[in-house]
Amino acid sequence: MVPMQEHAMTKLLQRNFVELTSRMTKNEAMDEANRCLYCYDAPCIKACPTSIQIPNFIKKIASGNMKGSATTILEANPIGASCARVCPTEELCEGACVLNSSTKPIKIGELQRYATDWAMETGAQLFKKGESNGLKVAIIGAGPAGLSAARELSRFGYSVTIYEAESKAGGLGSYGIVSFRLPNEVADWEVEQIVKLGVNIQTNTTVGIDISAEDILAQYDSVILAVGMGAVPHLGIKGEDLLGVHDAIEFVKQTKVGALPTDLVGKRVAVIGAGNTAIDGATCAVRLGADNVKILYRRTQKEMTAYKFEFEFAKQDGVEFQWLTAPKKIIGNDAGEVIGIECVHMKLTEAGADGRQRPEEIAGSNFILTVDAVIKAIGQTRFVSLIEAFGLQHTNGVVDIDEMTMQTSNKKVFACGDVVFGNGQGEAMVVTAVQQGKDAAYKIHERLRKPSEIA
Ligand SMILES: Cc1cc2nc3c(=O)[nH]c(=O)nc-3n(C[C@H](O)[C@H](O)[C@H](O)COP(=O)(O)OP(=O)(O)OC[C@H]3O[C@@H](n4cnc5c(N)ncnc54)[C@H](O)[C@@H]3O)c2cc1C
Ligand code: SF4
Repeated sequence: MVPMQEHAMTKLLQRNFVELTSRMTKNEAMDEANRCLYCYDAPCIKACPTSIQIPNFIKKIASGNMKGSATTILEANPIGASCARVCPTEELCEGACVLNSSTKPIKIGELQRYATDWAMETGAQLFKKGESNGLKVAIIGAGPAGLSAARELSRFGYSVTIYEAESKAGGLGSYGIVSFRLPNEVADWEVEQIVKLGVNIQTNTTVGIDISAEDILAQYDSVILAVGMGAVPHLGIKGEDLLGVHDAIEFVKQTKVGALPTDLVGKRVAVIGAGNTAIDGATCAVRLGADNVKILYRRTQKEMTAYKFEFEFAKQDGVEFQWLTAPKKIIGNDAGEVIGIECVHMKLTEAGADGRQRPEEIAGSNFILTVDAVIKAIGQTRFVSLIEAFGLQHTNGVVDIDEMTMQTSNKKVFACGDVVFGNGQGEAMVVTAVQQGKDAAYKIHERLRKPSEIA
């Protein structure tokens, strides 16, 4: 494509990345808010990992107190505008709403968006920094976990510095969650609110490269490790270095920053894996003009880890699913470009230790799919060398913490968010990372209030 055509195509594709859902109108919000039963001991609150006082914020919408409503949400959840858009609400608050058994649940996510959009648009300053207590905390990683911890610590009067490797704060909210569900402006606004509380965010600073773990341990009264997880691991098959093979997280990131890639227009794409990241990779490929997108998964629909609504969304986008199919080799041409993928059919055998049935190859069932690009989405790696640079105990790259205190094996270092997700701990969601960030902040405050605990 010549540059002019490419520019025109990029412009065309940009429309596909505009936020999919629109905000409720005032009338819709009022009608919905008035449907709420304002339950005593409301199950929706219990189902929210950040325990937002849901009936309370809904009642405030109904009475026209928008500032009060937004404050109730953001008090419990500093990343509440993003969560209004990205939380799997049908599995959390809306799934627990008592109205499920009679009519239909309250649209809690949409009401939360209605109230937080009000805060974004009016520029209301809802929180303020606490009086300085002279203590310093370093946070590594400016994703939902680190930002949430920073806000709470700043309100307690700590001097907070966040070290962030990327050029912008926000973590996967800024770089990972697809723009048509979470536009950049929302994550940017949330970061801005935290900066307004005096939190110093040092972007383009990779701990372990630009500043050492030792220096950080020496300079601060306490440290929070909130670096999330890393890139997609290798498939371990031939052809992974060919042109047209992408890491799903890097691929989605490209769609969130700068110009959209135009090289998938009219192409056939295979996505390996069936979690939420695979769905995001697949639906982005569709929006980048791919002609056919297939998700290949070695197990069946029953075992896939993507949320049901994500699965339905991908099907509506025309994504095809090929179950019990595993990749064996990516095939390239003389120019080093992907032209196909050799796969093998699988069958499920007895369940493993995790309770899931194990997939096993069916000998001789190999076949070739003609594709022009492959997107790998089989989980995420861990920042083992950084964790070890801090001298922290971990299990397969998942930082070991005392769940009651959020403390790692070094009592001065706390950890939260995706860096502690796995091995039966936590769940990789924005809302759980936010709650863990709050918990880490409260536990640090508890510890540092005792003078004997300050190093
Ligand atoms: C493609 C994708 C889609 C997702 N969609 C959803 C969704 O729809 N809903 C949902 O609830 N969850 C979703 N998630 C999960 C969610 O994004 C994460 O659980 C959440 O962002 C975890 O927050 P965190 O702060 O722990 O980590 P992250 O958001 O990963 O933030 C960690 C930060 O640490 C920084 N960092 C890493 N190493 C260093 C270093 N050495 N020095 C300095 N900084 C460093 C990183 O650059 C990053 O900014 C999705 C995840 C992915 C990958
Ligand atoms: S459970 Fe449903 S009806 Fe009850 S307070 Fe929560 S949102 Fe309202």
